[in-house]
Parts: sequence; structure tokens; C-alpha cells
Amino acid sequence: MTEQKRLRVALQKSGKLSEGSLDLLNKCSFKLRPAKNHYLIQSKEMNTDFLMIRDDDIPGFVDSNASDIGIVGENGYIEYILENPEHDLEIMAKLKFAACRLSIAAAHDSEIKTVADLAGKTIATSYPETLRDFLKKHQVKARILVMHGSVELAPKIAIADAICDLVSTGTTLKENGLVELEVILESEAVLIGRRSASNEIRQRTAELIYRLQSVIDAKDSKYIMLHIDKDNVSKLKEILPGCESPTVLHLHGSDNKVAVHVVSKEGVFWDTIAKLRSIGASSILVLPIEKMME
Ligand code: AMP
Repeated sequence: MTEQKRLRVALQKSGKLSEGSLDLLNKCSFKLRPAKNHYLIQSKEMNTDFLMIRDDDIPGFVDSNASDIGIVGENGYIEYILENPEHDLEIMAKLKFAACRLSIAAAHDSEIKTVADLAGKTIATSYPETLRDFLKKHQVKARILVMHGSVELAPKIAIADAICDLVSTGTTLKENGLVELEVILESEAVLIGRRSASNEIRQRTAELIYRLQSVIDAKDSKYIMLHIDKDNVSKLKEILPGCESPTVLHLHGSDNKVAVHVVSKEGVFWDTIAKLRSIGASSILVLPIEKMME
């Protein structure tokens, strides 16, 4: 019997993506505990090798077949494919974490208020290709200053008039007196692979994506159990998003009340509970779901 090839997965070693990547993979039964100087973690689970590298290097690693697949920010992937038009990469799954946006921002007291005002100005960024593409589409000619960190300081130290950087909560912009003018792209963590990957790699990747997806789908889903009047069961659909066919069970000793078990695919918040109670639901239990397999 031929031995199964090891699947090589590139992950960010440290930074905004690494925690989410490790958390998701560990919920899929990988036991990844990277030590400081560990660049390779060999896992028996699914016969997988994890390459722990800088996120900027991940698209190039996958493209050049040094890794089979990788987890990167969509923004980093787009920057890479714009810079390397002959690339062989594709997004194989969106992973619903590390959500952020790439935005243009300027000082709150700046004369730059719109994209058109950027004409003739200098914009600092770590994403020159994405910015160049955006400016070209908007027919605005501006100078791009490439910086690899602390981009938000550029207007303060007067080396740029505006910035183009990733924004998550907006705290960094606020702390530096900057105001967001335009969102260039929305981003989240994605799993990338090669378009020309072999059937074996595609199949192995599909197995991994199936596991990842079952954890992602379970993240916001809840298993809800409650008691309610028979006549009000149909009203549950309006209150619980994603609740398709609830299980309705007879309650011993009660003719008009039933027990309902249902999976809700969206978050269950306190206002949802209040709405459930307003239609007479009682004994409400909300349970987390670990994995959801279709
Ligand atoms: P925030 O203050 O939450 O808006 O975060 C902005 C800072 O975090 C900037 O320095 C960004 O470059 C960085 N950042 C935010 N989200 C991400 C992300 N998903 N990936 C990488 N860097 C990010």
C-alpha cells in the first residue's frame, strides 16, 4: 500500500491571524501548540505538516508549491495576486474570522474629505498594489509611500497626507486622529490553494474544509429547548432565525403544552429570549453546539 502524502498547511506564526487559525484547527482535533522556535509542526491528525511562517510569505509559499494550502487574510491574498498576475492561487474557503477592512483615512482636520481630494497627495500603505488598483479604477493620480508597519503615524510625522490600512475596531485610527474616508475592500481569513493542485491534494483539502466548516457553522448556532403552547409553535420560526423544522415532543401530563427542540443558526441574544417569553415559552435552555455536520 502506498503511504498517504503529507498535506502541507502554511499558517501565520504570530500575529492577528495566528490565534484564530490555531483555535479553529484545534477545534477540529489538531493539537497545535507552537513553541517559539518551531517552524514545522507535524501532526498525526490527517497526516498534516503545519509550516509556521510570516503571513506575507504564505501566498508565495502556496503558489510556488512549498506548501499545499495556507490560511491568510483575504487582503494579503489580493495584494499578492495583483502583484503576481501569473499566479496559480485560488480561495478555497472563507473562514469567518479576522474580519477587517482596508480603508483610506486622513486626519480629521485634513482638507482631504473624498477620494477625489487624494489627487496629487501622498498615501502611506503596506498594500501598494491594492491601493494602486483602487486609485486606477477611480482615475486618481496619487503618490504611494510603502511602509511595513506603523502606517497610522505617517500623517502625524508629515511623510504622507493620508493612509490606506487595515481597520478592525477603528481604535487605532481614532487614537491617531484619523477619519475613515473610503473602504477599499472587506477582508476575512481565507484558505488558499493552487488551481493546478493534484486530485489527491484537492481531496485532502476538501476533507479539511469539511471539518473547518462544521466548526465554523457551529460557532453561532445554538441548540434550544423550551416548552410552549401547541398553537404557538409556528410563531417560533419568526423569532428564531435559521429554525427550519423543530422537533415537537409531547409533555407528559399536559394536553396543550409541548416541548420544542430546535437548532438556531444565528446568535441567540437576550432580546430573542424576551420574544420567546412574550409568546409564552418557558423552561428555556440554550446550549452551545460543538460541530455541525451536514
Ligand atoms: P483596530 O484598532 O482594531 O481598528 O486595528 C487596526 C490595527 O490592527 C492596524 O494596525 C491594522 O493594521 C491591524 N489589523 C486589524 N485587523 C487586522 C487583520 N485582520 N489582519 C492584520 N492586521 C489587522
